[in-house]
Amino acid sequence: MADQKRDYYEVLGVAKTASDDELKKAYRKLAKQYHPDMNPGNAEAEARFKEINEAYEVLSDKDKRAKYDQFGHAGVDPNFGGGGFGGFDMGDIDLGDIFGSFFGGGFGGFGGQRRADPNAPQRGSSLRASITISFAEAMAGCSKELSLTRTESCDTCHGTGCAPGTTAEVCSTCRGTGQVRIQRGAGGFAFSTSAPCSKCRGTGKIIHQPCADCRGAGQMRRQRKIKVRVPAGIDHGQTISMRGQGNGGLNGGPAGDLLVVVAVTPDPRFERDGSDLYTVHTVSFTQAVLGGEIQIEGIDGTIKHNLPAGTQPGSQITLRGKGAPNVNGRGRGDLYVTIQVQVPTNLTGQQKDALLAYAEAMGEGSPAPTPVKDFFKKKKK
Ligand SMILES: [Zn+2]
Ligand SMILES: [Zn+2]
Repeated sequence: MADQKRDYYEVLGVAKTASDDELKKAYRKLAKQYHPDMNPGNAEAEARFKEINEAYEVLSDKDKRAKYDQFGHAGVDPNFGGGGFGGFDMGDIDLGDIFGSFFGGGFGGFGGQRRADPNAPQRGSSLRASITISFAEAMAGCSKELSLTRTESCDTCHGTGCAPGTTAEVCSTCRGTGQVRIQRGAGGFAFSTSAPCSKCRGTGKIIHQPCADCRGAGQMRRQRKIKVRVPAGIDHGQTISMRGQGNGGLNGGPAGDLLVVVAVTPDPRFERDGSDLYTVHTVSFTQAVLGGEIQIEGIDGTIKHNLPAGTQPGSQITLRGKGAPNVNGRGRGDLYVTIQVQVPTNLTGQQKDALLAYAEAMGEGSPAPTPVKDFFKKKKK
């Protein structure tokens, strides 16, 4: 509890100008999210829950809120400076009540109506990065480290931009909206447009004592090393999305995602189509004719296979479950092996004689080879 107390408005994720209704809605949403019944054994959620209740207890009370707005935590908490907030009993909050009003009450959420509020929680933007892995790494899965620079909420001021112990003042010019109406027009024709408030530069608040670490921005750029777990079976061009690893959110909003695009260096031995793999295996002329055990290279070692006698060049063997792992689940695709037959070259005299004897045995005699040009002439006829 040595931490600085967070700003109550920040805790509830609402603007300083929030109406009672907005406060109540924000409180109910958060109380439901962090209720101990929803997060059994989670000390962090419990702490958040207490913080939320404390903030709401003060801000929902007109007098306390006014004091808080004027004096900050010191105005409402007698223990301020001396430590924690005592005496709160979380049994006071009935989860059923929160659920009831949440689901039954036509609660519209944070979105639409307050989008223009510069102090509403905003989700951080997503970041994109890419990594290159080998084909073998794609097949087996791997873990890669990625260096990136991202925007993160300032640890010192928890994103408020205010020096510890201070709070920002609601901009009086725009009353916290960050926007001002400007009357334009000439003659009998007048209209008004809205423009960012120049006093607070559209932020809706004035920071008198900026946080020294982020100079009032509430955020800072940080260099981070991120570990990316690449699942087995990932394909070239696929994206791994890492929740909450993107740029930090504003005003207590969640961080964006990190989208990691994976490039896979091809392996010349394999072609891929989804989780099926294609490869070529070359056998000798005698192996093709006589058959026998062959060793086919797979992605996780060699696979023994019995080649039937009389295998024709170009014929295909299917090895079920020997393809790429399925990236989205269990199992593996198939491995299709095209058999290529190597025609022997540079035969010795003895080998030639043996082949001629074979040809004779097959009844082929020993024909003189047909000259190539004659072959084409015959074909043209
Ligand atoms: Zn800061
Ligand atoms: Zn302003």
